[in-house]
Amino acid sequence: MNMLNIEALIFDLDGTLYDKKNIVLNTLKSHWKEIPILHATNRLRKSLKGVDFENSEAFHETFYRQIARSAGRRTSTIEHWYQKKFYPRFIRALKKKYKARNNLVALLEKLQGVIPMAVFSDYSYVPERLHALKIPQKYFSFMAGSEEYGVLKPSARPLLEIASRLGVSPGKVLVVGDRVDTDGEAAKKAGMMFYHIAGPDQWDRFITDMEDFLKERGLNG
Ligand SMILES: [Mg+2]
Repeated sequence: MNMLNIEALIFDLDGTLYDKKNIVLNTLKSHWKEIPILHATNRLRKSLKGVDFENSEAFHETFYRQIARSAGRRTSTIEHWYQKKFYPRFIRALKKKYKARNNLVALLEKLQGVIPMAVFSDYSYVPERLHALKIPQKYFSFMAGSEEYGVLKPSARPLLEIASRLGVSPGKVLVVGDRVDTDGEAAKKAGMMFYHIAGPDQWDRFITDMEDFLKERGLNG
């Protein structure tokens, strides 16, 4: 991978910009009765990987209906749970127990104005979740979640739409993510470069690589 070619960065959020260890447990907290719903949701997310509904409405229609069926609840109950319980708790858990990876904000500060950056997550409420992690949104030209596009990772479509929005050709975009089967596969299908953050060591190496990138561009890292 030639890092010098990079003209834009698209970051995944969970597991990439912060260590998401125990996030499911911390989101669920003491709401044990909801375990079957959460399991049904995670199973469905796996089976819908890359299935393109083309828009958010069509995606959610199927999403809520299928979770409801496998969890034995009403569709309206599931929709309410997902939007009014699950996501708010997810955001609260991030705020209380998680923080951005080391040197992330300092790196974003240095890269600001050098190349455009975006955050693209398989989960929604990206601005709210970044805020909970104290990662300033001002560094990103664009933030979005898969559900808004009506397709989960590893679809190439959202990445291609984001690149076009950033005005950068796909071959010059570096996707930074913790999952090879979703982030990596989506990047590959979109003809983009991929940087795998398997854990803190790779993150530290990514920081060093980006510092080198800034130096090579004649900017003091
Ligand atoms: Mg992730």
